[in-house]
Amino acid sequence: MRNTLQHQNRLLIPGPVSLSDVIRPVMLDDHSAGEPEMIEALRAARRYLTELARAEGWGTTIPFPGSATYANEAVIRTFVPNDGRLLVHSNGAYGDWLITMCRRMEMPHVVLRTPPTRPPTSAEFRKALALDSQITHVMMVHVETSSGLLNPIEMVADLCSTYHKGLLVDAVASFGALPIDMKELNIQALVLSSNKCIEGPPGLAWVICDRAALECCEGNARSLSLDLWDQDRSVDRTGCFRFTPPTHSIRGAYAALELHRAEGGSAARLRRYHVNRRRLVNDMRNLGFQTLLADAHAAPIVATFYDPNDEHYDFGRMYDGLASQGLIIVPGRLAVPGTFRIGCIGALTEDSMSNAVGAIRDVLHDMGVQRFGAGPAALGAM
Ligand SMILES: *Cc1c(COP(=O)(O)O)cnc(C)c1O
Repeated sequence: MRNTLQHQNRLLIPGPVSLSDVIRPVMLDDHSAGEPEMIEALRAARRYLTELARAEGWGTTIPFPGSATYANEAVIRTFVPNDGRLLVHSNGAYGDWLITMCRRMEMPHVVLRTPPTRPPTSAEFRKALALDSQITHVMMVHVETSSGLLNPIEMVADLCSTYHKGLLVDAVASFGALPIDMKELNIQALVLSSNKCIEGPPGLAWVICDRAALECCEGNARSLSLDLWDQDRSVDRTGCFRFTPPTHSIRGAYAALELHRAEGGSAARLRRYHVNRRRLVNDMRNLGFQTLLADAHAAPIVATFYDPNDEHYDFGRMYDGLASQGLIIVPGRLAVPGTFRIGCIGALTEDSMSNAVGAIRDVLHDMGVQRFGAGPAALGAM
């Protein structure tokens, strides 16, 4: 096969992300799962992630093969007992995936939907919880990647403590950058991916959970491969997955976590992402673009912009024009039609963001676009 790429791609998307140049080389060699250095890398990675979640001495970190969707599904299967009922919150595409999972696995569930452009309120959650006394667990997305909206897990964690519900969190787009104190918030289980704010390669997800809660989950899963209780036991006892692990991804994830620590942990990463988003949004606004979200509600993971209100604008042509220069923006999965998204995470800096906006300006000028602002129809629809 011939490599048809003329250049190195730069991914401006919220996962998988552009890797640091030090990560790719560690994935070039082949390793078996049982080698001592593989077992040690997995052990060190689990310990570091448990520390990042502030869950030392209370929680455990379970590696799980596949993308984070697989781990979200495993969390629902494992943590919600057969006589349980899940309240699922959604205000975007990733919340909607959680609802789809519940439907497919015939998990008794109740849906709380709120608008995609603002965080849900405490009153909305209280009302949903009061409507159905059978609810045992609540699941929500921390950063809704289809818009970039930051959801208030702290507020929901308070309600879950008051009403004695188990809280499950999809922290796939936030963990590794935004602070999450699992023990303080009493989150039963949280899902993250190696390929978002951890900045590792795809193929491996992680579930961090309250060990005491996990111990009550034996036999819940009604699935072999999605049973986290079983996976945790195997990894704890043998240092190995039950089935073939993504060995190259594990080595890449371990290298990515070492880089994460060297950068200064989650706080340093969050600072870099804030700088990236501010540069991106300021430069885009200077061109005339408008953001879907108010800055106060936006997490620095991905930014959503309204399409320009100009007859010459064509998203497909903009995407292709950028891709021909190796700049890959998000092609789909939107919270709101008539918008597009640009990611701020991965091995990107403030310069990467201003270069990207320069490329967008040039591609749109070549297309004949003059007006970058959103039309009154788009803004009015919100
Ligand atoms: C990326 C992401 C997921 C997982 O998506 P995959 O396609 O399985 O990687 C889940 N939730 C959120 C919020 C995400 O950003």
